[in-house]
Amino acid sequence: RAKKQGKGCAVLFDAAMRTDTLRRLQIQTDLRFALAQEEFQLYYQPIIELSTGKIAGFEALLRWEHPQKGFISPGEFIPVAEETGIIVPLGEWVLREACRQLHTWKEKFSPSKLLMMSVNLSSQQFTADLSQRVDQILQDTDILGRELKLEITETAIMTDPQLTIATLNELKQRGIMICIDDFGTGYCSLGYLHQFPVDILKIDRSFVNKMQLDDKREIVRVIVELAESLRMDAIAEGIETKEQYLQLKNLNCKYGQGYYFSKPLHPNEAEQWLVGTRKVS
Ligand code: C2E
Ligand code: MG
Ligand code: MG
Ligand code: MG
Repeated sequence: RAKKQGKGCAVLFDAAMRTDTLRRLQIQTDLRFALAQEEFQLYYQPIIELSTGKIAGFEALLRWEHPQKGFISPGEFIPVAEETGIIVPLGEWVLREACRQLHTWKEKFSPSKLLMMSVNLSSQQFTADLSQRVDQILQDTDILGRELKLEITETAIMTDPQLTIATLNELKQRGIMICIDDFGTGYCSLGYLHQFPVDILKIDRSFVNKMQLDDKREIVRVIVELAESLRMDAIAEGIETKEQYLQLKNLNCKYGQGYYFSKPLHPNEAEQWLVGTRKVS
């Protein structure tokens, strides 16, 4: 397109590319110091049990406030952190911080039902010592395995299926629940799926937010039924309207999260969900 519109446009395009590359390099450099400089923060998005409208737990989502550039989205910096390997210490910090926060909330609000914390894991975090590291964190923060959910993508699983199965089995022995994140967008054959010790399928929001379209609604229905037949639960991601919420409830999808219920929240705001018996209407 740049070529067609003449030389001026090509120059502009190059300049834009250069800016992108520079930004990426800058992010790469700055990520190395961001952890030590405490520029990261976790936000928490409520996960709702659709049949009751009550909170079942939170998903911890990483936020980076760069001193000059302001908030940088995880969609931009997580891939860089993965390429550089920084995701390993960063991911460990996320896990520890999320467990610490869950413990604080349990003490402060003593919820009557099990409150769970979901944490995203990158494939690089599947090292041979992952379960020992997790054990240490659970012990240090006084959290039970069954209070923790770990989210991995289909792509992460398929990177090294055998190692992943072995590691997931170790984690499951601790009572930790395993979710497949963004389910339906990656490549995971059904033949593999039943071999993986997975408890929950998270239906990608690209299907959920187009549920008014028949074919997208069918995909959601099929995933919910697939989960059921594999004795797994389903969480619908990205619920933005009441209609989507009611449709998912009708399909017997167990859990949901999305802007209709709440955005990811600063911990102080997230606490509002733990006060009394707040319910979704
Ligand atoms: P994810 O794990 O699939 O997280 C859900 C994303 O969808 C979050 O984006 C959340 O803010 C967004 N979301 C939730 N509800 C809605 C909705 O109703 N509508 C729309 N349009 N979006 C919604 P976020 O926080 O920007 O994170 C993006 C991705 O970055 C995450 O996708 C996850 O893959 C990755 N990520 C975030 N935190 C971590 C982390 O601590 N470790 C790792 N490895 N990855 C992380
Ligand atoms: Mg996730
Ligand atoms: Mg997701
Ligand atoms: Mg995602």
